[in-house]
Amino acid sequence: MGRKKRPVKILISSNVPDDLEPITDWLLAENYCVSHVDLLKAIARVREFKSDLIILNIPGAKNVDDLVKKLLEKSHSAKIPVLLVVDRSNLNDQISAIEQGFDDCLLKPFAKPEFLSRIRLHIALRRKDEDLKMVKEAGEAAARAKTLLLANMSHEIRTPMNGIVGMVDILKETRLTKRQREYLDIIDLSGENLLMIINDILDFSKIEAGQISFEPIRFNLRNEVNEVVKLLKYKAEQKMLRFGVEFDSKVSEWVIGDPLRLKQVLINLCNNAIKFTQSGSVRVLVKLSKKTHGVEVVKFEVIDTGIGISPENQRKLFKTFSQVDASISRKYGGTGLGLAICKRLVKLMNGRISVESAEGLGSRFYFTTSFEIALSDSKLEKDLVSARELMPQKVLKILLAEDNIINQKVAAIGLKKLGHEVVLAINGLNAFEKFKHNTFDVVLMDIHMPEMDGVEATRLIREYEKTKNSNHRVPIIAMTANNLKSDKEKFILAGMNDYLGKPFNLTDLVRVLNRVLSE
Ligand code: ADP
Repeated sequence: MGRKKRPVKILISSNVPDDLEPITDWLLAENYCVSHVDLLKAIARVREFKSDLIILNIPGAKNVDDLVKKLLEKSHSAKIPVLLVVDRSNLNDQISAIEQGFDDCLLKPFAKPEFLSRIRLHIALRRKDEDLKMVKEAGEAAARAKTLLLANMSHEIRTPMNGIVGMVDILKETRLTKRQREYLDIIDLSGENLLMIINDILDFSKIEAGQISFEPIRFNLRNEVNEVVKLLKYKAEQKMLRFGVEFDSKVSEWVIGDPLRLKQVLINLCNNAIKFTQSGSVRVLVKLSKKTHGVEVVKFEVIDTGIGISPENQRKLFKTFSQVDASISRKYGGTGLGLAICKRLVKLMNGRISVESAEGLGSRFYFTTSFEIALSDSKLEKDLVSARELMPQKVLKILLAEDNIINQKVAAIGLKKLGHEVVLAINGLNAFEKFKHNTFDVVLMDIHMPEMDGVEATRLIREYEKTKNSNHRVPIIAMTANNLKSDKEKFILAGMNDYLGKPFNLTDLVRVLNRVLSE
C-alpha cells in the first residue's frame, strides 16, 4: 500500500516501573514511540486509537482485574494487541495469561532479541490488519459508489427509453410499407426487452443503495392480487394455461402494507411460472399463516406445472444475476435479477421467500409478509362518523410518538381526518425534544420504541414540567399491544394518564382523548 509509515506507538502500563528498566531503551532504539501510562489512561487511549501495542506489567494486582478486563475488551475490538509481562519460570502464569485473553506474554528476565522479535511480530500483524481493513473499506466504498451512481441515474436512463418505446407506438399508427412495419416490430420488441432489463437493473441498484422505501397504505388485498392475475391473464391464455387465484376467506380483505411492492413480487413470480410452464396451470394461493394483535402473517404461493428446477439449481436461485442454466436463458431471455429483487423486496416487507420444485413436475414459490389488519370501507366510514360525533369541536395539537410507520400512518391519518394537528416523533428521545419546543394539548405515546421507550420519555416529560414550575400536566396516553394489568399500572406510575390497547380504531382513540381531556 503506498502509505507513508507512521510512527508506532507503544503504551507501557506497569505498577512496578523499575521492573521494566531495559525494555524502554530497547524500544526507543528501534524508533518506537513509548509512553508510560496508568491503566485508566491506557483504556482511554485505546478508545481514541492512540496506540498500536500495549505492554502490561501487573504482578499480583488483584484489585485491577476489572480494569484489565475492560482494557482487553476495548483493545480486542480495536484490534490492538496487549502483551503481559510474565516470569519466564512460571509456565502456569503464561498459560493463564493467554486464557484470559492476552495476545502474548513477554518473558522476564528479558532477553533482547527474543523480546524485540515478539514486539515486531505483533506490530507487523497489526499493520496487516490495518491494510486489510483499508482494502475492505475501499472496496465497499467503490461498490456503494457504483450502486448509487446507477440508482441516481435511473431517471436519466428511463426517460429516453420511454421516449423510444412510446414513439414507436405512435409511428405504428402511421401509414407504413410492409417492410417498414417489420423493422418497426423488431425495434418495438427490442425496446420492450431493453426497458425490462433496464428496469430490473435500476430496481436492483435502488434496493441495494437503500433508496427503495416501504410505503404502507390501507388497501384491499383481494383486489390487488386479482389485479396481478388480470394483468398476466393474456400471457397464460396465449399458452392455454389455467391461471387463477384462491383466496383463503380467513385472510382479511382490508390491510395496511405496501401494495406496490407486494404486486411487484407476485408479478415476478407469476411471470416466471407462466414463462417456464408449457401446459397445465399456474395457481396463486393466498393463505393465513398467523394472526396476533391485529397483525396477520399472510402466505402467498405461486404453483406451476412447468419444467421445474433441479435441487442443485434451486440453491443458485435468489442470487444476483443467477440464471440457473445458460441454455434456459438463451431460450427464455431475462436478466437473472428477478428473484434476487423479489428476495430483497420480501425482506423489506419483513418476510421470507423460498422454493420447492421437482424437475419435470413443476415449482412452488412461496413467501410470507405481515400486514396490519385494517377496517373495511364501510366500517371505516362508520368509525369516522361515530368518532366525529364523539369528538369535541376544539382542534387539538397532538404529539404522536410511534416508531412503527404503519401505526404512525393509521393514527396520523385518522386524527388529521378529524381535523387535528399531528406532530410525529419516531422514538422517546425525539418525542421529548419535540415536547420541549412545542405546546401540545395531548401526547400519544407508544411504549416499545428504539433508543428510548415511552415510559422513560414520559418520566423525562414529567420532570421537565416540574422544572418549569408549571402545575399543568399535558395528558399522556400510552399506546400498547400489551394488555397486561401490571403493565398498565406501570404506565400510570410513570406519569401517564390513560392507555389505549392496540389495535384501536378512531372511536376508541376519541373516547380516550375525551376521557383525559375532561379530567
Ligand atoms: P429472470 O429475470 O432472468 O427470469 P429470475 O431471477 O426471475 O431471472 O429467475 C432466474 C432463473 O430461475 C430463471 O432463468 C429460471 O431458470 C429459473 N426459474 C425461475 N422461476 C422458475 C419457474 N417457475 N420454473 C422453472 N424455473 C424457474
